[in-house]
Amino acid sequence: SSVRLISSFRADELQIRLTNTPSVKPDNDKLKFGAHTSDHLLEVDWTEKHGWSAPVIRPVEPLRIHPAAKVLHYACELFEGMKAYRCVDGKIRMFRPMENMERMAASAGRSALPAFDTTELLKCIKKLIAVDQEWVPYSEKCSLYIRPTFIGTEPALGVTYSNEAKLFVIVGPVGPYFPTGMKPVGLLADPQYVRAWPGGCGNFKMGSNYAPTVSVQATAAKLGCQQVLWLYGDDHEMTEVGTMNLFVYWINEQGEEELVTPPLESGLILPGVTRKSLLNLAREWNEFKVSEQTLTMATFVKAVNEGRVKEVFGAGTACIVCPVNRILYQGEELHLRTMDDPEHLTQRFYKEINDIHFYRKPHEWMEPI
Ligand code: PMP
Repeated sequence: SSVRLISSFRADELQIRLTNTPSVKPDNDKLKFGAHTSDHLLEVDWTEKHGWSAPVIRPVEPLRIHPAAKVLHYACELFEGMKAYRCVDGKIRMFRPMENMERMAASAGRSALPAFDTTELLKCIKKLIAVDQEWVPYSEKCSLYIRPTFIGTEPALGVTYSNEAKLFVIVGPVGPYFPTGMKPVGLLADPQYVRAWPGGCGNFKMGSNYAPTVSVQATAAKLGCQQVLWLYGDDHEMTEVGTMNLFVYWINEQGEEELVTPPLESGLILPGVTRKSLLNLAREWNEFKVSEQTLTMATFVKAVNEGRVKEVFGAGTACIVCPVNRILYQGEELHLRTMDDPEHLTQRFYKEINDIHFYRKPHEWMEPI
C-alpha cells in the first residue's frame, strides 16, 4: 500500500450500500430529540496493524461488538453533536462543521484513539447527509441532528489504549427545542456535585463526562429545576448549564454593560461552537463589553442583589440559547429577569443564529453539503 503523510481514511474510497427497506419518516410536529435515526450510517474501522479501512455508508443495523471491547468497560468513547438545515433557498447546509471536526480530533487525542484527517471525515459526513437528504426536515423549525461517535473496540480487558477502533456517524431529524416559544428554565446550583476539574476532561466531549450527570439532573428535577448549574472549587465558580455554555449579561462592578462567559483556559468548559459564535457576533456588534472571565457565585449573587444582572442563558447546539429565570443556591432562590425586556439579548442571539442557520441571512459559517 502507498505511504501517506497523514494516516487516514479517505472520502474518495467511500463504499455505499443502500437499504432495501427505507423507514417511514416521522411527522415534523412529532419529532422527539434523539428518538429517530435515518436509514443509513457512516462507519470506518481502524486497527493498529492495518490502519484505517475504507469508509462505508450502509443501512443502520445493530453493531456487533465483543463483550470485552474496551468501550464497554472503560468508556473509551467520544462524540460530537452538530446539525444540518434545509435552508430557504432549498440547499442543505451545515453550521461551522469544521469546528466540530477539530473538537472531535482533540477528544480522540485525549482518549488515545487514532488520528484521522478531519476534512476527509467531513466529506464522508456530507455524503451521508446527501444519501439521507430526504431525512432533513422540510421545515424552518426542524433540522437534521448529526452524531459522530468514536469508540475503542479492542476485545481485551486491561486499561491500555485500544488497538482497534470504530468511528461511526448516525443522523436523525429533530424538532424545535422550544415548540411553543422560548421558555426560561430554573437551575440547581449545588456545589456538592462537580462536572469537571482542572487537568480532567471537561473540555473534551467524552461519553464518560455525561453518564454521571444524569442522577444530578434527576435531583434537580425533584427540586423543581430543569437544569444543573455546574459549580467548581471553593469559591463556587459558575462553569456550565446542563450541557450548555453559560452566559451572563450584566452591569459589572465598574458599571460597564458586559457579556461574560467563563474562560476555556481552565479546562473546565467544553469549547462550544455556539459559545464561540455568540462571542464572534457580540464582538462584531461592538455595542457592549465582551469578556471570557471566571464568574463566582459570590460576585454573581452580589450583582443580582444590586439589580445589575440583566440576563442569564445557556448556549448550545440543541437550543441555540436557553434563558434562565431562577437559580436555587444554598436554599435560596435567585430570581432573574432574563425575559422581562421583550428585546432581550437572549432573543436577539436566537434570531440572529436562526436566520444564519436557514440562510435568511447568508453567512460564511454555513457550509453546503
Ligand atoms: N457544554 C457541554 C458540556 C456540552 O455537552 C455542550 C454540547 N455539545 C455544550 C457545552 C455546547 O456546545 P455546542 O455549542 O458546540 O453544542
